[in-house]
Amino acid sequence: MINLKKSCLFPTYNKFPLTLVRGHQTTLWDDEGKSYLDFMAGLAVCNLGHVPERVKERIQEQLEQLWHVSNLFHIPVQEELAEKLVTISCADLVFFCNSGAEANEAAIKCARRYHQRVLGNNRYEIITFEQSFHGRTMATLTATGQEKVKDGYLPLPEGFVHARFNDIQSVRNSITDKTAAVMLELVQGESGVHIAEPKFVFELAKLCEKEGILLIVDEVQTGIGRTGSLFAYEQYGIEPDITTLAKGLASGLPIGAMLGKEKLREAFSAGSHASTFGGSPLPMAAGMATIEILLEDGLEKKAQQMGAYALDKLRKELKAYPAICAVRGLGLLIGIQFAEPVAPIIQKLHQNGLLVLAGGTHVIRFMPSLYVTCDEFDQAIDILKKVLKEWDGGTGEATL
Ligand SMILES: *Cc1c(COP(=O)(O)O)cnc(C)c1O
Repeated sequence: MINLKKSCLFPTYNKFPLTLVRGHQTTLWDDEGKSYLDFMAGLAVCNLGHVPERVKERIQEQLEQLWHVSNLFHIPVQEELAEKLVTISCADLVFFCNSGAEANEAAIKCARRYHQRVLGNNRYEIITFEQSFHGRTMATLTATGQEKVKDGYLPLPEGFVHARFNDIQSVRNSITDKTAAVMLELVQGESGVHIAEPKFVFELAKLCEKEGILLIVDEVQTGIGRTGSLFAYEQYGIEPDITTLAKGLASGLPIGAMLGKEKLREAFSAGSHASTFGGSPLPMAAGMATIEILLEDGLEKKAQQMGAYALDKLRKELKAYPAICAVRGLGLLIGIQFAEPVAPIIQKLHQNGLLVLAGGTHVIRFMPSLYVTCDEFDQAIDILKKVLKEWDGGTGEATL
């Protein structure tokens, strides 16, 4: 293991004491050869598992041809991936960047410019939600509905207000004559897998349409099959004006994408927004292969079936553990809510060979590769039960 005392990295991460050096499908190996069941998949990035063969081949092909070319030239594989995304989504246009925060930043800029340049009004406010997470740039951390990401970064950019999640009246109360857009995660992943209620989302979409407000859905974590459909919005029967993607889109290569409806075309003109690396050939090739495989293998349906299996099994098997208050999820984005902070439990799970991640302070997230098997889920639940038994005895009353 590397000597952490000598690290030249800024200490922005509280790192787990593990060095992972190799991965295959849902398994990871550390530098001492120990294997782990990976139920993090990066941070919901490796939806196709680790080092998926067909994505690797496409990256290798591209690696032989061309690594980088400026966006001032045509990039065929970028056009191809944009067309693919438009075909499988409700959107008509795509802007490529390199991360989720950048995709949301593009969405915020697009929404403001649409109002200010296309419609000719001066709307700029973006309504987001409490406990949301939208990224770490100045605008997206301001959009994020959590104080912890803003600490020490004052002054924050203007024009963001937070409404209460799943509360349509709170959104109504937040609307002013300056409101340009509402930005929403359909499942709030980072803060602990809080799922938007269908009625709320339906009413929100109607409200936005009526008020001339753009609806931005942040699918950075929920997109690319994770929740049991290609995009989570499909399950809500809505069509966002803007959808943002990143994490799972290129199987681990850096990528971000903002998808928008045709009416937004004139919001951006040449020179009004750009990204040097956005849409580079390598991540585009990886993204193309990722989407093709996702569609071929019907992975979003697999995610839906496995998610249902896992939720049912978790609810049954975790009943007797008083430390657990709730299990919720959509597809393979699953949260197990604890009555106490989960950090020490996560450490024990890692020691027992199961890699999982917290959501907020009291939730453990299960978000494995979409290829995860029932057998792997059973193994994960067995490890969780073993750790919980050592933790609190597991003899309490049924709580679920
Ligand atoms: C991870 C995440 C982001 C930020 O993505 P980065 O690639 O880390 O910038 C934004 N929104 C949501 C919903 C996320 O889960």
